[in-house]
Amino acid sequence: MKYNFVCLNCNKTIKPNPNISTCPEPNCEGAFEIVYTNTNTKSPQETLIPLSNISNLTYLGQGNTPIVRLNTLSDNFGINNIYAKLEYMNPTGSFKDRGSAMMISALSEFGINEIVEDSSGNAGASISAYSAYSKIKSHIFVPENAPKNKVSQIQLYGSIVHKIPGPRDNSTIAAIKYSEENSIPYSSHNLSPFFIEGTKSFGHEIIKHFNNKQPDHILFPIGNGSLLIGSYKAYDEIKKINPDIKIPKHHGIQTESISPIIEIFSNNNWYPEQAKSTIANGIAILNPPRKYQSVNVIKKTNGQGIKVSDESILKWQKELARKDGIFAEITSAAVLSGLDKLVKQKIILPDENVLLPITGFGLKDPPKDLFN
Ligand SMILES: [Zn+2]
Repeated sequence: MKYNFVCLNCNKTIKPNPNISTCPEPNCEGAFEIVYTNTNTKSPQETLIPLSNISNLTYLGQGNTPIVRLNTLSDNFGINNIYAKLEYMNPTGSFKDRGSAMMISALSEFGINEIVEDSSGNAGASISAYSAYSKIKSHIFVPENAPKNKVSQIQLYGSIVHKIPGPRDNSTIAAIKYSEENSIPYSSHNLSPFFIEGTKSFGHEIIKHFNNKQPDHILFPIGNGSLLIGSYKAYDEIKKINPDIKIPKHHGIQTESISPIIEIFSNNNWYPEQAKSTIANGIAILNPPRKYQSVNVIKKTNGQGIKVSDESILKWQKELARKDGIFAEITSAAVLSGLDKLVKQKIILPDENVLLPITGFGLKDPPKDLFN
């Protein structure tokens, strides 16, 4: 389907260009969103994609992840149904494969054969896997102190890993510099509008699975909000065909240590200098490029922005494993902490249905005492 890049900051529209990662207008640097020139379709999941044909989508087994009912936790919370969508069943163990598959496929259509990306975690591994499959050479910039097992996964797929000293942002700066000096596209999963088009499949699968009884609430751990935004876009696309479909409240969860999106939602100021360390490294993003887009989704769906503590995340990671047999990555377990708060605040009610994406597998970032 034909589409343009539209700047989220200033609305400037440009032709799709894999070599441009942010808006070129002076002092803008906004992230782009893909807007299709014709949205009149009966099958958005197959046609509203930035590819000439759905058959060009690189497939390593991503998507169609299982949905299971959390029997014990539904009882314990006194909630009608709590469902978990097991995103860690994706090929590299996290939901990022949805975004990487679409991004790498779109770049392949443009004839790109080398990319630069910065990621310390699941996105880096995912992009490495899809790059390997698509014969794209990838340079992944990671902080020197990034979790060793995550960096090992990136290296295993054959990506060239550049280890950068200092805070996380130094990796971004170094990646952009390397991209410019070597004329290799900077393909950041946080900035790429193709990546978001891939995460839409999460929403389309939920819509299909629940048919005429959609969940009342979906809770997302948000760093940059790519799963939250993709999910909403899917519902928005389907609503144009089926105006009766009920869009679940999309709630965003961040940690008390790093909460730029929740503070915008709550009309508070927040500066990266206020950040503290957190165990939930998958959502520890100080200045997410899609922060305002994420807040818009939360507000449009009447969702809430919730901050949770590291202690609570660790507690719920264990509870989820012991009560319902699911080993979530620490970052993913933040949705249980958020659920606990929303139930106590009576924002989630006993007769309602809740869906929790379990975004990453527990062994990706195991608790420190696990192997002792
Ligand atoms: Zn702009």
